[in-house]
Amino acid sequence: MSIETRYTRLRADLDRACLECGRAPEEVTLLAVSKTVGIAEVGQAQAAGARDFGENRPELLAEKASALPQANWHFIGNVQSRRIPEIVSHATLIHSLFEARHIQKVAAAAADLGKVQRILLEVNVSGEASKSGLVPGDVADMLRFCGDLPTVEVCGLMTMAPQGTPAQIQECFGGLANLQQGLIRDVCPGIPRVHLHELSMGMSEDWRYGVALGATIVRIGRAIFDDAFE
Ligand SMILES: *Cc1c(COP(=O)(O)O)cnc(C)c1O
Repeated sequence: MSIETRYTRLRADLDRACLECGRAPEEVTLLAVSKTVGIAEVGQAQAAGARDFGENRPELLAEKASALPQANWHFIGNVQSRRIPEIVSHATLIHSLFEARHIQKVAAAAADLGKVQRILLEVNVSGEASKSGLVPGDVADMLRFCGDLPTVEVCGLMTMAPQGTPAQIQECFGGLANLQQGLIRDVCPGIPRVHLHELSMGMSEDWRYGVALGATIVRIGRAIFDDAFE
């Protein structure tokens, strides 16, 4: 099956999943994670309607975003200090920030470029040692920290589910949604440029749980770009 067919089919499945849980399909961005493919494959997804792409290596983000600047490029990978200016030059949204020192560097790089960088905070909801992200109880303080940085806008939260049972996945995504609601109610009011409208949760294997629990962005790689994925 071609990438165009896979993308079209997945977007239709996503639209249907939204309607089944009473959500508008326009609420959920399908972020095509193109980290394993080249420009040609990205072009095929674009031809099928993809507008948002995710990369996890700064140099590949820069290369692909420069080649296809009309798309929205998201950074979803491990952030290293020295690569931050390159990431900020190209990213519409950075999903994977959780350290104050990195966020401070993002703010400085954005100031240099005259932009306000939109970011998400990564949260380790499941508490697995192998996962990165903020402890849920530390997110409020990080939001207050971000509120003091005029070139950063905190648009929401991101998490990765454990590779576990449906109940464990739902606990993780539901936990992020509950955290978001509590923060919007109790912490965001009064902090400038911190609104948390976005929830980035769900990948090829578990996006349906994400959609059911309030995801506004699902990050999908293999189900679009890997012909062996079923
Ligand atoms: C690779 C990656 C994805 C996409 O994973 P698939 O299983 O290929 O859909 C999503 N989020 C992050 C952070 C990733 O690194």
